[in-house]
Amino acid sequence: MSELTPCPAWLRQTAQSLMQAASQQRLHHALLITGIDGIGKSAFCLWLAQALLCTQRATKGDRVGACGECAACKQVLAAAHSDFKAVEPEGANAGIKIDSIRELVSWLQLTAGQSSYRVALLSDANGLNRFAANSLLKTLEEPADNAVLILCVSRIGALPATVLSRCQKITLKIDDRQAAHRWLAEYVDQPEQALIEAGGGPFAAVRQLDDSFILTQNLLLKAWTDLFLHKGSVGRIADSLSKLESGDCLTLFAAWCVLAAKNSAGVKFDANPAVALAIKATRNRLAPEQWFKLHERLLELHRTDSASFRTQVVLEGLFSDIRLQVLSS
Ligand SMILES: [Zn+2]
Repeated sequence: MSELTPCPAWLRQTAQSLMQAASQQRLHHALLITGIDGIGKSAFCLWLAQALLCTQRATKGDRVGACGECAACKQVLAAAHSDFKAVEPEGANAGIKIDSIRELVSWLQLTAGQSSYRVALLSDANGLNRFAANSLLKTLEEPADNAVLILCVSRIGALPATVLSRCQKITLKIDDRQAAHRWLAEYVDQPEQALIEAGGGPFAAVRQLDDSFILTQNLLLKAWTDLFLHKGSVGRIADSLSKLESGDCLTLFAAWCVLAAKNSAGVKFDANPAVALAIKATRNRLAPEQWFKLHERLLELHRTDSASFRTQVVLEGLFSDIRLQVLSS
């Protein structure tokens, strides 16, 4: 690591309130960090871990968090801090191994060394299966002094309720829209438009500039148009998306619902030409309130979609329902 991870500028209020809690010794010992795609969960979790390890952290301002100068920060930079442990899933589709969690639990019981906190980061806590989650419970119930567990979670519904109920849930949101715009202006000409098209996450908006994203978007635009204009069967449309992550589909469809609702209500919007065309062709298929309802449902599905669901099954059910709604409206 050549430098510490800065706190995403649009999350600074949340960051400051956590730093205050830490300085007043009232930080919860298990923090579950969640939020929409591309809001900055991973960066925020890493920032938080580094901030808690630092012995001279700033509690507010632009440089809230780790100082980058103290002995603890230097050890973090050298990936040699003995009070920090990160656990990741074993592979793209594999979960977190129960052995890794057992090891983590006994490690967390040790006393913190030089820093004020002993910090464990589960960078993709959705990879926790029931058994791994169960072995975590004891730590969550009887935490060691100054141990903090940070769980980074994209689909909160996929976590066991026993774990959820023992954590403090923090849903990241854009605290400061101007800051998000300023950051995005380095990449795009129209930050607000890019944010809306990406479903609200600044990092997601930047990912949309990627070539592979354009391919994904084109596949999804075709599926969207076919779905709402009744071209082809639901099964065929879901098949056409079989190589995509269901999360990409749900996030983009949710963003397009908002555009369609606004557009059908006569609100002008700027979108890239391909998206604008698809929205114009389909905006009258549902009433504005139905678009918003569908938007909610897509987000909810994204929150609860468990890794064990297959994309096809999730999408086919969703698409059948949409077709019924279009027919009856
Ligand atoms: Zn420091």
